[in-house]
Amino acid sequence: MNSAKGCPNSECAAHKKKTLFKSSINYCPECGTKLAAVCKIKGCYTFLNDDSKKLCARCDAKRADRIDKTKKVGAAAGGAIVTAVGIIATAGEDVLQLASKIKKN
Ligand SMILES: [Zn+2]
Ligand SMILES: [Zn+2]
Repeated sequence: MNSAKGCPNSECAAHKKKTLFKSSINYCPECGTKLAAVCKIKGCYTFLNDDSKKLCARCDAKRADRIDKTKKVGAAAGGAIVTAVGIIATAGEDVLQLASKIKKN
């Protein structure tokens, strides 16, 4: 993931359009103002004090939140597999024994 730059000149068309530039571009092609590190989330355009960062604190928190939710969905899927094993187990004793072996592993 590459960082992005934005034009800090509020009068500039690039700034108004929230145009993101590659980190390799140093000056705004519209107005010539030195570009500054900006949050790379589309439409955010928050200028960053620390140009080693790629997202502003708000978008970074949102992203962390999404990762957390993904983990929870993964845990729920694991629970569904356990339930499926339980359903198979009711089909017969042999299968029941097999299911208990799976649980031990
Ligand atoms: Zn500009
Ligand atoms: Zn942001």
